[in-house]
Amino acid sequence: MSKKVLLEVKNVKQHFRIDRKTIVKAVDDISFEIYEGETFGLVGESGSGKSTTGRTIIRLYDPTDGEVTFDGKNISAKKLTKEDRAYVNKNMQMIFQDPMACLNPRMTVSDIIAEGLDIHGLCKTKEDRTQRVYELLRTVGLNEQHASRYPHEFSGGQRQRIGIARALAIEPKFIIADEPISALDVSIQAQVVNLLRKLQTENGLTYLFIAHDLSMVKYISDRIGVMNKGKLVELATADELYENPLHPYTKSLLSAIPLPDPDYEKGRTRIKYDSKMHDYSRETPQWVEIRPGHFIYGSKSELDQYEIELTTKEITI
Ligand code: ADP
Ligand code: MG
Repeated sequence: MSKKVLLEVKNVKQHFRIDRKTIVKAVDDISFEIYEGETFGLVGESGSGKSTTGRTIIRLYDPTDGEVTFDGKNISAKKLTKEDRAYVNKNMQMIFQDPMACLNPRMTVSDIIAEGLDIHGLCKTKEDRTQRVYELLRTVGLNEQHASRYPHEFSGGQRQRIGIARALAIEPKFIIADEPISALDVSIQAQVVNLLRKLQTENGLTYLFIAHDLSMVKYISDRIGVMNKGKLVELATADELYENPLHPYTKSLLSAIPLPDPDYEKGRTRIKYDSKMHDYSRETPQWVEIRPGHFIYGSKSELDQYEIELTTKEITI
């Protein structure tokens, strides 16, 4: 994995006005970077702003504030140039939790997969197009016979493979996978994850992988950002986050991961999180790098406490 920054999210806010009095701060001033070739996991319970973050990055929404840079281009500008818009469309793709929702039921698998190819005029002849579709089907573990069928004829796992083939068709650099395995059986989850990893190695892809719990993300992410109520509360490499979690919300997510051993499972204690445990009335919380690459959101006194926690651990090791 390189340290070349592919995507930079800088102080991004996405606020939705519901009515005259209500604004939902779905994403509220978050900053992070994604390196070329890595998998960046974004976790947090439902409603924490993960999907909104993904949609804002891919410009389904105009951000309320802040900046998103992709491959050195500012792609959050109010008025995107035609070239930059085309660049985003060509190089960023999204895959979703429920592929059924984004696969047109009246289109054949072939037309679904080739949609991007058609839009971008990437196939010169009909035969080229057919061959490319076949190739993509094979890449995701399906076959040529599947090309003429319709989405409802497939299982959930196969539909997710179709969604992946569709995203891959135009050879993007960056894929936002929004809970791509949450709706699948556990046995199928591993297959889809393995496929995504294989494709990453073969094509040098970069992923933003969104999930609501840490169990699978732990294995697939290089770095992980933890989101709660529109804020990033902690960010670190996967190993660092598991070994030295600091934020109580991260600790609570970690304590919720089921353990494979039933004896351990009985002894597992869940840590409860309540955002009221932070008193930010007198101290404004900040997003700071407490150790190289380990970021944490907290007030001055919380940060002091986290510092003691880390130092104590370092001494005892
Ligand atoms: P997550 O993906 O983590 O479950 P979302 O990004 O979907 O969270 O939603 C974050 C918050 O923003 C939720 O409170 C949700 O209801 C709200 N929200 C999301 N999209 C919109 C929208 N288009 N308009 C208004 N509120 C929205
Ligand atoms: Mg979501």
